[in-house]
Amino acid sequence: MFACSADVQPRPSEEIAQLKDELVELRRDFHKHPELAFEEFRTAKVVAEYLTDLGLEPKTGIAITGVTADIVGGLPGPTLLLRADMDALPIHEQTGLPFASLVEGKMHACGHDGHTAILLGTAKKLVEHRDKLRGTVRVLFQPAEEGPGGAAPMIEEGVLEGVDAALGLHLWLHLPTGHLNFCAGPMLAASDEFEVSITGVGTHAASPQMGIDPVTVACHCVTSAQTLCTRSVDPKEPFVFSVTTFNAGTASNVIPHRADFGGTLRTYSEEVRVDFKKRFTKLCAGIAHAHGARADVIWREGYPALVNDAKIASLCEEACNDFFHMLSPERRPDPRSLGGEDMSFYLQKVPGCFLFLGAYNEEAQACFNHHHPKFTIDEDALPMGVELFLRCVEKLGQELSPK
Ligand SMILES: [Zn+2]
Ligand SMILES: [Zn+2]
Repeated sequence: MFACSADVQPRPSEEIAQLKDELVELRRDFHKHPELAFEEFRTAKVVAEYLTDLGLEPKTGIAITGVTADIVGGLPGPTLLLRADMDALPIHEQTGLPFASLVEGKMHACGHDGHTAILLGTAKKLVEHRDKLRGTVRVLFQPAEEGPGGAAPMIEEGVLEGVDAALGLHLWLHLPTGHLNFCAGPMLAASDEFEVSITGVGTHAASPQMGIDPVTVACHCVTSAQTLCTRSVDPKEPFVFSVTTFNAGTASNVIPHRADFGGTLRTYSEEVRVDFKKRFTKLCAGIAHAHGARADVIWREGYPALVNDAKIASLCEEACNDFFHMLSPERRPDPRSLGGEDMSFYLQKVPGCFLFLGAYNEEAQACFNHHHPKFTIDEDALPMGVELFLRCVEKLGQELSPK
């Protein structure tokens, strides 16, 4: 399954390796106390206290539970943003681990507990080596990545002011521990949702001529949308359009008045995103009109596509390729996914890069997919996350410094 899974693990420097116990302790504490979107009060408190103990002056309450702190280096340089997400999911944990969730129906099943721990450990090391740090690093802990999204409201409150570049990582169960993967350009998709209501005229099932059947109209809309996918979008553009709900009727002898369906559109290209939505809305209206019915289409915008900046991605590559297992870009497994991530909002405003850090290890029980009730991460990946951030900060500090 994996390109070089038999490789020896990369070893973080002695100093970072010594941080592992603390990172594990932090991660397990967050893991035991999962909090959902915009309720991350305990997590934010632990984060703010940790940062204060480091001698920093954290700003709290940004977009309800978000926290930031600036680490000002001893040398001139850029301002870099490092981002972690803090929220958990409404899933009942089934790992049976000794540090499993203490909260019924809530669980860290995506690895955000690890992200928070990694960024705290990174802040600690940056503070310790502040005299050698070029520029400023703003560490940012955000709420609600799993939805409805904490990045956009934090940006509205000014967290990107003065920021030259932004970095984030995701512990990734599609990669073994010690592996790193990412690409320049779009890596995660824009995820929008739609709902369609077809209104016809209800009637007795035995006399359809007396009404307008919304079920057949809705079926035409669903199948024609698949034709729209193959005939109206450049076949070189990866995207997916899925109808995932379809509801109509209450009895076998009644043609209902209304039929509803809905689903999701996932796109990398903003052009495809905008164009497909327009075409689909027009298609449903046209089909409904042709049959004497009416179509009401509602689109709900999700996160935009996550696009890594080519220059920053290549600097991250240079910073990391002698440490992590990374195949050359042309041999690397395609890291792209049609999943969504609200790190994309920061990367719409400033150049930056989002990186997938391997955390899959069967021996550590870390072999279930994200959002599975048995999901957990390989904790060996935690110090590697710190190593990753520190390497990238050093490289970007050198390369983005005013010459
Ligand atoms: Zn997730
Ligand atoms: Zn996640």
